[in-house]
Amino acid sequence: MSAGWIAVAGLGPGDEALVTPEVTAALAEATDVVGYIPYVARVAPREGLTLHPSDNRVELDRAGFALDLAAKGRRVVIVSSGDPGVFAMASALFEALEARPDRQQTDIRILPGITAMLAAAARAGAPLGHDFCAINLSDNLKPFAEVERRLRHAARGGFAMAFYNPRSKARPHQFARVLEILRAECEGARLILFARAVSTPDETIRCVTLAEATPEMADMRTVVIVGNEATRRVGRWVYTPRSVPV
Ligand code: SAH
Repeated sequence: MSAGWIAVAGLGPGDEALVTPEVTAALAEATDVVGYIPYVARVAPREGLTLHPSDNRVELDRAGFALDLAAKGRRVVIVSSGDPGVFAMASALFEALEARPDRQQTDIRILPGITAMLAAAARAGAPLGHDFCAINLSDNLKPFAEVERRLRHAARGGFAMAFYNPRSKARPHQFARVLEILRAECEGARLILFARAVSTPDETIRCVTLAEATPEMADMRTVVIVGNEATRRVGRWVYTPRSVPV
């Protein structure tokens, strides 16, 4: 077997201080870095390291490319933002592996990172302090009707929720629909956090009630956190109690 390997690494939400030492060590040993253009741009170039930035929506090609490089003995880091297992490249790599039985002996490691919702929650206080779920609002890989169905169930189930990919130019109306569904399922005083570009110089954190929320408050650099029924403010913080009254 070749000495090549693949590490699928999460670069965290943006701040260098939130990249784990394990990821930094993998990048230091790598010969190749593969990933979506803005994530590869976060890796410092150095001698002996080839950067392979690629466009959005080519995840499977990128994963297949990484498998081929590793088979040639290269040490490959596939980079994602946040955590690689949260709406990111780790699943894409395993999908590619399913289609490539000849590559299933590849040495693969998944290196976790700090995902956007956890970085955002920490900035605000502890809005995910009780049961919660994460929903990708993009209809790129699932029909929007499924997004709506999961949203309703999560709201009825009493979960706090984190929304990834809340709004893009390609589908500006869908987040308005999400707010409409939430208003039908939850009380108007429900707290919502719009956390944009967390841990970068552009960071903004805004907390409003569901009644005050507007679609323009979110964009593709925003993770949205909807509290549960008990989520409340204390001083400048927002938190969700650890218990539910019986
Ligand atoms: N794997 C990533 C998520 C990729 S999906 C992770 O674990 O964080 C891309 C979405 O993540 C964006 O649309 C946005 O909703 C969210 N996101 C990523 N980085 C963010 C940041 N620094 N601040 C706020 N949201 C972020």
